Amino acid sequence: MHAMLMQTDPKPASTDGANKTADPVARRRTFAIISHPDAGKTTLTEKLLLFGGAIQLAGEVKAKRNRVSTRSDWMGIEKERGISVVTSVMTFEYGDCVFNLLDTPGHEDFSEDTYRTLTAVDSAVMVIDAAKGIEARTRKLFEVCRLRDIPIVTFVNKLDREARDPFELLDEIEKTLALDVAPVTWPIGRGRSFAGTYDLGNNRVRRLDAADDAGTVPVSGIDDPLFDQLLTEQGEAATWREEAELAEGGLKRFDLAAFREGHLTPVFFGSALRNFGVRDLIDGLARVAPPPRGQDADKRRIEPTEPKMTGFVFKIQANMDPNHRDRIAFMRVCSGQLRRGMKAKLVRTGKPIPLTAPQFFFAQDRAIADEAFAGDVVGIPNHGTLRIGDTLTEGEEIVFRGVPSFAPEIMRRIKLGDAMKAKKLKEALQQMGEEGVVQVFVPQDGSQAIVGVVGALQLDVLKERLQAEYGLPVDYDQTRFSVCRWIESDTEIEIDKFVESHGSAMAKDLDGAPVFMAATAFSLRYEQERWEKIRFTDVKDYQ
Ligand code: GDP
Repeated sequence: MHAMLMQTDPKPASTDGANKTADPVARRRTFAIISHPDAGKTTLTEKLLLFGGAIQLAGEVKAKRNRVSTRSDWMGIEKERGISVVTSVMTFEYGDCVFNLLDTPGHEDFSEDTYRTLTAVDSAVMVIDAAKGIEARTRKLFEVCRLRDIPIVTFVNKLDREARDPFELLDEIEKTLALDVAPVTWPIGRGRSFAGTYDLGNNRVRRLDAADDAGTVPVSGIDDPLFDQLLTEQGEAATWREEAELAEGGLKRFDLAAFREGHLTPVFFGSALRNFGVRDLIDGLARVAPPPRGQDADKRRIEPTEPKMTGFVFKIQANMDPNHRDRIAFMRVCSGQLRRGMKAKLVRTGKPIPLTAPQFFFAQDRAIADEAFAGDVVGIPNHGTLRIGDTLTEGEEIVFRGVPSFAPEIMRRIKLGDAMKAKKLKEALQQMGEEGVVQVFVPQDGSQAIVGVVGALQLDVLKERLQAEYGLPVDYDQTRFSVCRWIESDTEIEIDKFVESHGSAMAKDLDGAPVFMAATAFSLRYEQERWEKIRFTDVKDYQ
C-alpha cells in the first residue's frame, strides 16, 4: 500500500489541481464534528471559523447580509439548558477550500437529527478529550460514520491540561473503534509542560509559545537541542525522545486510501482553547478530506460532477428567525449547480419549486446564495412544502436513499386537555412529524396519536413547541407499547393478514406505512418468529 506523510508545514492549503474558479466541486469539504459533550466541539468550531475569517465566498455569494442570527437561541428550552437543540450549518472559506461544517446537536440525548446530518457529510472530525479518551457518545457517533464509510480525522484536545499518555489514547482508539491510527503530529509534553507539537517525520516543530502565524520551525530531528529547551524538567526531554522515536518508527503512517475507505484515522494533537493545532487540522482537512462524493439514488448513483442539479433535504428547522414563522429546509446539493431563481422539481409531488432565496449560513449571518455546488448545504425557506428526505432535481425522477428514520425508543400517547382542539393538534403533529421533531403514529383503533422519539428531550421540545406555536397545552400518557417496527412483506395479502390480527397494536406513520407496536422486545420477537413472511424493520428510508 502506498504510504504518505501528511505534512503540517505552514504552506497555505492547496488541493491537487483545484483552483477557485476551475473546479468548484474539488475544493469543497463538507464535514461534521463528532464528540462527547464537553470534549471541546464548540471551542474547536469557533477556532475553525476564525480561520475561515472572511465569511463571504468571493464570486460565489453576493452577500445580501441581513443580520439575522442563525444561532439557535429562539427557544426557551435551549436557553434554560444551555444546549443547542437544532442543527445548523456554517460555511467558510480557507485556503483554496470552501468548508461546510454541519453542526450536530450538542446535548446528551441522541436525536435522529444527528444521524441525518451525518448523511450529508463527506468526512468527520472526531474530537477526543485527552484526559478521557473515547467516551460513549463519540463511540455511538463513530458507529454511524462507519456505517456510511465516512472518513474520520481525529483531534486529541485539551493537551494543555492533564492528559493521558498519547500511546494509551491511540491504543484505545484502535481497540475500541477497530480503526488504525496514524499520528500526524506528536505532543511535546502535556499538561503544564505542554510546549507544542512535533511534526512526525517532517522535522518540524510548532511551538505553543509562538504566535499562530509564526508557523512551524525546522529541527534537525528528535535529538535537536530545541527539545531540551522546551522540556526543562529533569529527564523530561530524554523520556520524550524515547516516546517520539517509538511514535515515529513504530506507529502506522498515514495512508490516503485506507483513510478514505474509513479504516485509518490521522491524529492531530492540540488545544482548541489555546487555538493550538487547529491550523494543522484544517490544513489536513484541506489536503486529505474527500471532496463531495457520489450519492446513491433509487435508480442510479449520482456523481457530484454531473451538470444537472440534484439534492436532498436532510433537516428542517423552524423558527430560525423569531420574527418570522419561517421554515428552512436544509438541502445538500449532490450534483450540478444550484442557481438562485431556478425552478427545481420536487420529486415527491412532481411539482416545481422555485429557488428564489436559497441561503448560505455563516457563523452569525445568512446570505442569499446566487449559486451553490455539490457538497454545499443551502437553506431553502418554505412554508411546509419541503419535508425531510425530499429530493430536488432539474427534472429527473430519482429519489435519494439513505436519509433514515429510526424506530423510536420511547413512545407516548398525546393527552390533549381541550378536546375542541383535536383538529388543530392533528395539523400541528403533521407539521412536527414532517420537520422530524418526533414521529407520529396514528393508531388503527382511532385512539389518540402516539408520538415516538429516539431521545427523551424531543418530547420536551414537542411539548414546548405545541404550546408556543399552536397554543396547544399537551401532556403525555404512558402507552402499553415500548417498541415498534415498520412492517413489510413481498405480498400485500400477508400484510393485510397481519394488520387484521393485530388490530389495536397497529398504526400508520405520516406516509401511511403500517407500523406494528409491541409491549416488550419479547413480544416483538414472538411475533417475528410467528410471521416469517413479514419483515420487521427498525430503520426506514424517507421516501
Ligand atoms: P462541547 O460540549 O464539546 O461543545 O465542549 P466545549 O467546547 O463547550 O468545551 C467544554 C469545556 O472545555 C469548556 O469549558 C471549554 O472552555 C473547555 N475546553 C475546550 N477546549 C479546551 C482545551 O483545549 N483546553 C482546555 N483546558 N479546556 C478546553
